[in-house]
Amino acid sequence: MQYVIPSWDLPSLAVEGEAGRFPVRRIYCVGRNYAEHAREMGNDPDREPPFFFLKPADSLAANGAKIPYPPATANLHHEVELVAAIGKDGAEIAPEAARDHIYGYAVGLDLTRRDLQQISKDRRWPWDTGKSFDSGAPCGDLAPAARIGHPETGAIVLDVEGERRQSGDLADMIWSVPEIVGHLSRLFTLRAGDLIYTGTPAGVGPVLPGQRLDAAIEGVGTLSVSVGDSA
Ligand code: MN
Repeated sequence: MQYVIPSWDLPSLAVEGEAGRFPVRRIYCVGRNYAEHAREMGNDPDREPPFFFLKPADSLAANGAKIPYPPATANLHHEVELVAAIGKDGAEIAPEAARDHIYGYAVGLDLTRRDLQQISKDRRWPWDTGKSFDSGAPCGDLAPAARIGHPETGAIVLDVEGERRQSGDLADMIWSVPEIVGHLSRLFTLRAGDLIYTGTPAGVGPVLPGQRLDAAIEGVGTLSVSVGDSA
């Protein structure tokens, strides 16, 4: 292919135990999928249908990355999330068939410029400036489902500077991963290469310049990133 400007590398994730990488196409994110987090954000955790937003594929940051503190915010928040990676195309996927479409899982961070997100909520604007910024989607190495299975329970935690800030369990998701795949695939045709960030447990809070984040999900893996100085 010939392009009129220089092209860029396809965003991708390392895969545990594999030499090859997982190419990333789209990043879908689920809002409010743990009741305690819905409550801490001032929302009713009743089981209303899941809602979704997207981040650009090139907002990924790898395990071990030092990411810049993003511009235009004074309130960067951490949200630790289970990430499901789609390995097989599908639309209108029944929840019972969803596992067949998942290649593997990883630990992710849905970093959020909470102050910009709040402005968007107040003014009924889209969430993109609060959610979809550069390096706003750190993601650890993918663990293939062929090796770890499909986790439904297990601790999901995040430490800031070694201090526990978020602690939950995958069993507390309002919508399970197969149910999320079912809902999302009625809105979009899912393609191999898509990632789904499946929502965060309670305890979200600010990350300051220079701080280190260590996240882990039992049976899935870990993710560590450090945040640099303000841009
Ligand atoms: Mn989130």
